[in-house]
Amino acid sequence: MFRQPIPRAFLRNFRASSSSPQLLVPRIASPFLRPSAFQTISPVGFSSQIHTPSRAALSSLPRTITFSLRRPFSSSPLRAFRTPPGRYRRFDQGQWSGQQPSIPHIVVLLVGGAGVFYIYNLETVEATGRRRFNCIPHSKELQLGDSQYKEILRSASGHILPESHPLTQSVNRVLQRLIPEAPIEGANWRVHVINDPSTTNAFVIPGGKVFVFTGILGICGDEDGLAAVLSHEIAHVVAHHQGERISHNLLTTGAILLATILFDVSQAFTRVLFDVGFGLPNSRVQEAEADEMGLMMMAKACFDPNAAVKFWARMQKAEKVKIPQFMSTHPTHYNRMEAIRERLSKAEALYEEKGCHFIKNNTLLYSEPIPKDFGYSFQST
Ligand SMILES: [Zn+2]
Repeated sequence: MFRQPIPRAFLRNFRASSSSPQLLVPRIASPFLRPSAFQTISPVGFSSQIHTPSRAALSSLPRTITFSLRRPFSSSPLRAFRTPPGRYRRFDQGQWSGQQPSIPHIVVLLVGGAGVFYIYNLETVEATGRRRFNCIPHSKELQLGDSQYKEILRSASGHILPESHPLTQSVNRVLQRLIPEAPIEGANWRVHVINDPSTTNAFVIPGGKVFVFTGILGICGDEDGLAAVLSHEIAHVVAHHQGERISHNLLTTGAILLATILFDVSQAFTRVLFDVGFGLPNSRVQEAEADEMGLMMMAKACFDPNAAVKFWARMQKAEKVKIPQFMSTHPTHYNRMEAIRERLSKAEALYEEKGCHFIKNNTLLYSEPIPKDFGYSFQST
């Protein structure tokens, strides 16, 4: 789809004399035309040679104008369009008003409108100072989170551990310590542990619903490690990454459609280009940002920030298939570990600032190991 040529050509000057049937197409009012389209052509075909036929021969010609256009970056063959006499209008004759807008004008309007919309919806992520485009309000995010929640509960039905289960209680204990450091408007926190030892994943959806698969608990090891995972997932919600992702998708879908029409290439090809060029890098930026925010969050909640480095080292060990970073939505485990290591001193300063050493030495606030023997195996560093 979207592979038809653009049926528009705009002749600014057209000269045809009885002594020479040569048609000149000196200027074509489209920014999308190659110089090769600006050629002298014969009215009887695509030959670039100039013929001088007799008047009799000329009068026998059909009264149509034939000209050729090539679309930029297109391998399409030259197209010929026929314009019935009397229907052709020149732009410079003051007859533009009242006519249908041309595709270049529509493109300029669309791109201009999109640009204004983009600038209007630029905002700064408070925690990191990153500028980003986000046109999805928080209320919409909560709404989407609500329907996601129902859908996940439906699909995980029968695999969710009860609230009284030691694993659910362990995750909930970590969550309760992180919540004061996670300002999310309208959040109604709730933990669900899904019994699936083969899945090393966890996520939090807007609205504060936390899902943890048992497969990741063995890699977490203890509550500090689990805090590294949960704080990262909570950071995605605090930073409204889901809204940003939807906004980004809207923008790139529009750009893909436009590029597909203008450059006459397949939509699948354009999508791959946009994904590798914009989609995946944006996703990796979000992941790195959630790592940074999560690290600070866990430190402020008096979890040992060094546990995050240890967690990613274990993840790297457990990784079965290595995908090159540029093809992945996430940075590599090694790069994440190194980026976290670089920020450790800042996190440790926060830990000190909060008086965590004193609190841990004088209260019962310590990290417990995650209960074992519930269908997962523990991996040590
Ligand atoms: Zn993430």
